[in-house]
Amino acid sequence: MNGKLVLIGCGPGAIDLMTLRALRRIESADLVLYDRLVNLELLTYVKPGAIYQYVGKRAGDGGRQQTDINLRIREALEAGATVARLKSGDPLIFGRAAEEIDIAEDCGADIEIVPGITSSLAAASDSLITVTERAELQSFIVTTGRTASDQSRPDWVQCVQPGVCVAFYMSVARAWKIQSTLMAAGIPGILPAIWVERAGCDDTRMVSTQLDRLALDAEQNKIKNPAILLLRYPHSLAGALKNSVTSSSQQA
Ligand code: SAH
Repeated sequence: MNGKLVLIGCGPGAIDLMTLRALRRIESADLVLYDRLVNLELLTYVKPGAIYQYVGKRAGDGGRQQTDINLRIREALEAGATVARLKSGDPLIFGRAAEEIDIAEDCGADIEIVPGITSSLAAASDSLITVTERAELQSFIVTTGRTASDQSRPDWVQCVQPGVCVAFYMSVARAWKIQSTLMAAGIPGILPAIWVERAGCDDTRMVSTQLDRLALDAEQNKIKNPAILLLRYPHSLAGALKNSVTSSSQQA
């Protein structure tokens, strides 16, 4: 008999930002594996007799823990269990879902994905920032400050263009790298930005900043993980900067 893997998005950490579907799937699982940023109150929904296990990862473990998780999932699926894999935010955004989907496919198990509220959108709501805006912002990009290797580092300069709002995940420790890379490429230092720590939770903290102060403001305000950085490049700002460059060159 084949088991079933359910990847469940548990939202940014507040229990009331979970979906009803997520709660129902937790209630019917035989094995519940949960990550570091998931709200522990969720475990009260685990059915009697089911097993739950913490499998949170720390940075720099060299992938060993993910290998252990993968083995645990495979074992349970092969025994015919329904495995609920609880992930923070949405499972398809920086959630390493692909590896776990591969395992389920390999075992011939059923797969279901339950979407969740991703942390960048909770951050946008907390800070009343629209990530798209008529005439100003037509694209919303999610990217990351941290990657498995330098080769896979995203091209942040390509992301931060007029008309784009960019959400940086896992970026606190990379604030200076992000700031200096963008500024070296000529992106204006006055682009508006905000750090949102523990988005969607009762103890959320927000620090408004701008591109040329990202790292300093993060440090001075002791921004800690989990935090999201939202950076916006509205068309009106790009236009105003262009005009001021043109008028100063005309004066010279
Ligand atoms: N799948 C998750 C992201 C996991 S990667 C999602 O969709 O949100 C982990 C990163 O997510 C953290 O480094 C942080 O950048 C972000 N994050 C997760 N929860 C957060 C929260 N409540 N507030 C701000 N950022 C959060």
